[in-house]
Amino acid sequence: MTWKTLDDMDLSGKRVLVRVDINVPVEDGQVTDDTRIRRIAPTVGDILKAGGIPILLAHFGRPKGQVVPAMSLQPLVPALEAAFDAPVTFCADCRGPAAQAAVDALAAGSVLLLENTRFHPGEEKNDPELAAGMAALGDIYCNDAFSAAHRAHASTEALARLLPACAGRLMQAELEALESALGKPQRPVVAVVGGAKVSTKLELLGNLVTKVDHLVIGGGMANTFLAAQGISVGKSLCEHDMTGTASEILTKASEAGCAILLPSDVVVAREFKAGAENETVAADACPDDAMILDAGPETVTRVSDVLAGAKTLIWNGPMGAFEIEPFDAATNAAARKAAELTRAGSLISVAGGGDTVAALNKAGAAADFTYISTAGGAFLEWMEGKALPGVAVLSGG
Ligand code: ADP
Ligand code: MG
Repeated sequence: MTWKTLDDMDLSGKRVLVRVDINVPVEDGQVTDDTRIRRIAPTVGDILKAGGIPILLAHFGRPKGQVVPAMSLQPLVPALEAAFDAPVTFCADCRGPAAQAAVDALAAGSVLLLENTRFHPGEEKNDPELAAGMAALGDIYCNDAFSAAHRAHASTEALARLLPACAGRLMQAELEALESALGKPQRPVVAVVGGAKVSTKLELLGNLVTKVDHLVIGGGMANTFLAAQGISVGKSLCEHDMTGTASEILTKASEAGCAILLPSDVVVAREFKAGAENETVAADACPDDAMILDAGPETVTRVSDVLAGAKTLIWNGPMGAFEIEPFDAATNAAARKAAELTRAGSLISVAGGGDTVAALNKAGAAADFTYISTAGGAFLEWMEGKALPGVAVLSGG
């Protein structure tokens, strides 16, 4: 896959329509977490430095094609100005005469923020007419919203077909990290997949077994795999109706030469709560009245050994019920091992998923990972092997 970046574009004097994800939490008109805003600052900064004119397009919330004042982007202006260290002008529409006038009036060195693209019903319908209205405002299209790239919307897909298009810095970093983990990875590649359920990650597991050398299955979904092997998992979270599917995934893995690593020992408790009395038992010895809440130390050692022999790691889903101590132990240990190997330069580590990012942060391991994706749904669809419309269109797809 290839795509253009800002480095391939002549930006001087050009109006650059930049699709960003600034869906930040706002309380009483104040941005409470500006992470997403800070992450697009390099793109805006590089466009300004090259003499270009950044015009931001973004969605906010789910107004469903109607003007919902509570979902206006205007309250974000001060946070954007602080992050960009540049003046930001706001226009109450993302196309039409008012937007055109705002573009024409823009002073050099400043940024224009256009109103929520989802105020128009055409946005989520990938409407070419809405896209044409937006395209009329710019010379170049730059997509910096990887997290919105799994959706074919007017501002992520149709618009990219109408102007010379490139990836912004954040999109570029995300694509490079993902390509290095699953596109053309250095082998051996190990995937760690955990979390609650097999049913939410079926396609992901099915895709990974064909691409990686080792698949570590942890978390609640491992229970379903244990049950598929005829092992009793007591009162554990387990999708008994998915055991057939779990067996199919195991067969597919062995056909593809992917080694599966399931827990060989587990931490069990009678209550799902922090500090619950617990014991470590063999994976096939869960008492009938107990539930498996974490992988045991022997499993952690096996996972660490696989990581130590790997060159690339892709991780989604915690290894246990990490929110309640001490059932975060396996997740913490594996995360810290991956962080240590990454620091030492022997492992490329990429992780994503809402709870996964929270778990890696809790383990104090996130900062050492090569790349942490905050893209949520887009990251998971990419792990499932799906083409993301907003990325495909940048690659001439
Ligand atoms: P992500 O958001 O990173 O994709 P998931 O949502 O799939 O991850 O999974 C995270 C959830 O899985 C957490 O809430 C965690 O408590 C739960 N979980 C992990 N292991 C177990 C287990 N053994 N029993 C019950 N819940 C578990
Ligand atoms: Mg989750």
